[in-house]
Amino acid sequence: MNELLDSRYIKYRQEVREFAEIHVKPVAIVQDEKEEFPVDLALKMGEAGLFGITVPAKYGGQGLDYISYIIAVEELARVDSSPAATIAAHNSLGINPIYTFGTEEQRLKYLPGLCTGEKLWAFGLTEDNAGSDAKGVETEAKLENGEWVINGTKMFITNSCSSIATGITAQAITGYNDGKKELSAILLDRSVPGYTTTPIKGKLMWRAVDNGKLNFENCRVPESNILGKRGEGMKIMLSTLDGGRLSIAAIGLGLAQGAFEMASAYAQKRRQFGKPLIEFQTTSFKLAEMAMKIELARNTLYHTCRLKEAGLPYGKQAAMSKLYCSDIAREIAGESLQIHGGFGFLRENHIERFYRDQRLLSIGEGTSEILKMVIARYVL
Ligand SMILES: Cc1cc2nc3c(=O)[nH]c(=O)nc-3n(C[C@H](O)[C@H](O)[C@H](O)COP(=O)(O)OP(=O)(O)OC[C@H]3O[C@@H](n4cnc5c(N)ncnc54)[C@H](O)[C@@H]3O)c2cc1C
Repeated sequence: MNELLDSRYIKYRQEVREFAEIHVKPVAIVQDEKEEFPVDLALKMGEAGLFGITVPAKYGGQGLDYISYIIAVEELARVDSSPAATIAAHNSLGINPIYTFGTEEQRLKYLPGLCTGEKLWAFGLTEDNAGSDAKGVETEAKLENGEWVINGTKMFITNSCSSIATGITAQAITGYNDGKKELSAILLDRSVPGYTTTPIKGKLMWRAVDNGKLNFENCRVPESNILGKRGEGMKIMLSTLDGGRLSIAAIGLGLAQGAFEMASAYAQKRRQFGKPLIEFQTTSFKLAEMAMKIELARNTLYHTCRLKEAGLPYGKQAAMSKLYCSDIAREIAGESLQIHGGFGFLRENHIERFYRDQRLLSIGEGTSEILKMVIARYVL
């Protein structure tokens, strides 16, 4: 399928690869060790047009299609998952709900700044007591004199605490219907009094990603800050997660590609028993299997993007793509590290970071177990 891609995708891939090789790869190990979100790199990614990739030019975006976006995430993850995750979260979770469900006024207010990368926007669903069970959200928004008064917390939120993080689309309870929670999505600017952020440190993976715990204490925003309609929170969340799953799948695919390339290069260089590792059939078969899985993952993911672009249902395929790409990322990072032997454990070798970074993929935006439940619902 890759061979059949339009030349504009091949050119776009080359451009992002070049950016990733020049600006991302050389600093990846240091950023991981420092466990700091690199604002300067985010700004460079903004200048390179990596924010607002699918948003029309009218709102400051690049106006490209979903496959281009997926290629960009894939190419960043090929060298480092952290900036790939920053881009994926900002485009899929930050920008996309505003573009898809926002009023024209909301689009014009928020999107131009968010498309430059000078401002980042988050999506807040998860709380201490609401992870896979998204309806468990406890954050509440009460309408008082034409304003939403918001109280609650959010946990693990990506792009939420750095100096360029400017706000969040928060999932909140806006009322009860027959005892059932009415959930809505509300745009909440970080500058609102009572909005506080605490960065999360000590992560195993994605260590240069900005993740935080947020607290909202009597945060007041105008009633018009509701995104979509009141009570549409679950609809917005499900639609946002379907698109987001494709970008997490792209991180898995790019990470697997990078791990494969490292294994292949190392197996050609490293000699044991008088010959390069690649000449042992065990090694070449491992590499052949990796290449096959990457090809299958790419075909599945691009097919799902085409369904999305065509306006066809793609929820089942999005779940399958994310599950499959995160599975192969785990397998390929593991086998690549195995081929690197003891040297693979050293921080100076990128594969050590890849082995840790892949671990998030089967948890974030729907754990693998939840995705199997989603797929089962479609097929059974
Ligand atoms: C680095 C990082 C970034 C994140 N970014 C964001 C973000 O930007 N915005 C946001 O809203 N959230 C974000 N999250 C949260 C993420 O989406 C959740 O961690 C994820 O949905 C899982 O929820 P949980 O961690 O509470 O695990 P739990 O839901 O407590 O799950 C724990 C385990 O139980 C299993 N389990 C749960 N329910 C079932 C069931 N019914 N059947 C079988 N098994 C089950 C799960 O599969 C998992 O293995 C992020 C998380 C991380 C780690």
